Amino acid sequence: MHNAECNRYPTMTHTFAPEHTVETVCPLDCPDSCSLVATVQDGKLTTLDGTHANPVTGGYICAKVRRFPERVYGPDRILYPMVRKGPKGLASFERTSWDEALDLIASRMRDARAAFGGESVLPYSYGGSNGLLTQDTSDATLFRRFGASRLTRTVCAAPSGAANLGMYGKMPSVAYEDFPEARLIILWGANPSASGIHLVPFVRDAQRRGASLVVVDPRVTPLARLADIHLAVRPGTDLPVALAIHRFLFEEGHADAAFLAQHTTGADRLRARAAAWTFERAGAEAGVDPALLRRVAELYATASPALIRCGWGQERNRNGGSATLAILALPAVGGKFGVRGGGYTMSNSAAWGFTRTWIGADEPPTRVVNMNHLGRALLEYSDPPVKVLFVYNSNAAVTSPDQQRVLQGLSRDDLFTVVFDQVLTDTARYADVVLPATTFLEGYDIARGYGPISLRLARPVIEAVGEARSNAEVFGALLRRLDLAGDGEPEGELEELFHVLDKLPGPIGAELRERGAATPPHGGRPVQFETVWPLTPDRKAHLCPADLDGEAPGGLYHYRPDPGTPEFPLALISPSSERTISSTLGELPRPEARLLMHPDDAAARGLHDADAIRVFNTLGEVHCRVTVGPWIARGTVSLPKGLWRRHTGNGFTGTALVPDTLTDLGGGACFNDARVQVEKLPNPAAREPADGPV
Ligand code: SF4
Repeated sequence: MHNAECNRYPTMTHTFAPEHTVETVCPLDCPDSCSLVATVQDGKLTTLDGTHANPVTGGYICAKVRRFPERVYGPDRILYPMVRKGPKGLASFERTSWDEALDLIASRMRDARAAFGGESVLPYSYGGSNGLLTQDTSDATLFRRFGASRLTRTVCAAPSGAANLGMYGKMPSVAYEDFPEARLIILWGANPSASGIHLVPFVRDAQRRGASLVVVDPRVTPLARLADIHLAVRPGTDLPVALAIHRFLFEEGHADAAFLAQHTTGADRLRARAAAWTFERAGAEAGVDPALLRRVAELYATASPALIRCGWGQERNRNGGSATLAILALPAVGGKFGVRGGGYTMSNSAAWGFTRTWIGADEPPTRVVNMNHLGRALLEYSDPPVKVLFVYNSNAAVTSPDQQRVLQGLSRDDLFTVVFDQVLTDTARYADVVLPATTFLEGYDIARGYGPISLRLARPVIEAVGEARSNAEVFGALLRRLDLAGDGEPEGELEELFHVLDKLPGPIGAELRERGAATPPHGGRPVQFETVWPLTPDRKAHLCPADLDGEAPGGLYHYRPDPGTPEFPLALISPSSERTISSTLGELPRPEARLLMHPDDAAARGLHDADAIRVFNTLGEVHCRVTVGPWIARGTVSLPKGLWRRHTGNGFTGTALVPDTLTDLGGGACFNDARVQVEKLPNPAAREPADGPV
């Protein structure tokens, strides 16, 4: 159907000059969506660097993706399909052919459906690749037509997404380029120095032009060091802090009554629910000086343009949905919209205004499984039990809460697990069948930035390594093997690409075809309540949306107190690091993982820098060394997000300490509700390889 056009899209079967460059884009789960240039020598990727094609990313990229060639050719790369030959948890496999592997998977899916129903098959995926082609295309068609259990992808951004949708309908956000217009920037739960690095120069530019900077984060992040005010709040207390600012705005005459009357609903309810949160009460809960809170509130009340960059740190706890709503409501109450550089910035993923109309089947009314309950699903669900687990774009063994139970579930002998991935992850070590996946440098994809409003075509830079195949090829092949493919449906990656391009609204698909990039709506620089409006049915901001009010335990803006106990008083957080994108690239060599701890907390436990320690609670324990320093709030400790089992002394990562409780909205993960104790490891063993069965 697209033969003529297909010829314009190389499939890497032609010969290249010995050394050449190819321009593409980074689709990984990062807000920025950098434009890239890859250097290829004799068919082999040698370097990756930035270009100026995406003007926001300015010709430079992060150190993580600079190392991507090490993933492509590294020792952990999966080169061909494999089947299990030894105990689960060990990398004990033997090579097989694609046909045999796919036949086996199809027959095990059929058998499970015949014996237990389609819901006994659970697909499990998240944003490992994050392009539009690598998720919710033929994979979704396959599992929907098959009648598999449905997965809610809630490990990240679920509560904040629910909040942004409920309040503003996911209105487009202030662009990075407009940050220098602001006179006050509040970075709330965001550390752009580790994730979304291209925001940093715009923040610094704003500071040079006289803007004040406030950072709300339990850690002393690089930008917190440069901030005018750093609120090192205890994890889970962003809600009372934001409500105290609301109380101040309402009670001390700074609320924009005209704006609230014309453009919002629910202001009275928000005001009533904030009324109890004095600075003193919120400060006591959050562990910050009430006078500092008042200074932030006064700054916010008087500065314009005032801009809040709302991240994801505030969502990862029991109060995360309400906390995000309270933060997002501040520009409405304070009258900060309608001016360039004023308002808020969150995910811009919805700015293009399209939904995934290209999926070839409607969602069936099958069982819904929250991905944060993977351990429960594998160990407890019985109606029907999960008999086939198909993992792709995800490393659930280290990213899902309650790791011990997840690993126990993955160890089940009667569970048939498929892992389709680029490298041999911790999850792949539990697989019955391992399938090799292409990276974004070995095929086409469509990358959508969720910081800058950007949509770009990713092109193949090199041939697929080994026998790696794209998601479109693999799920298409399974559709055909299971007799679920329809006539005339896309086959293979290139046809899938054209299928998606055809379904994109307006000129978006045509532009991507013609020049590899689409023109962003609103010129890429929307002004909230000036050029863009809430995408709610009445174009108003709903400060206390009724459906969310009913969903949140105790109602919206209800604060649930700290889950700490005298036995486990320390709040454990696991923020993004400079080394991995979630857990992607965790296979690359790195310094050993360290727990960060405040000197006062260390002294209280007789700990010194570099001591071998155990971090523990009733769910599990992690062995590593401690870094003692004043770069984190007292009472809070931190392990990096995205660790693999090899990075700790005992093969467990921070998720082993995380309960599988859910956030107040959106069913999100409560990573920052882990409460732990730390003590010196009595007899630190020589470091053993940590991979292995539980
Ligand atoms: S991960 Fe982010 S900063 Fe790094 S190259 Fe990709 S888009 Fe750019």
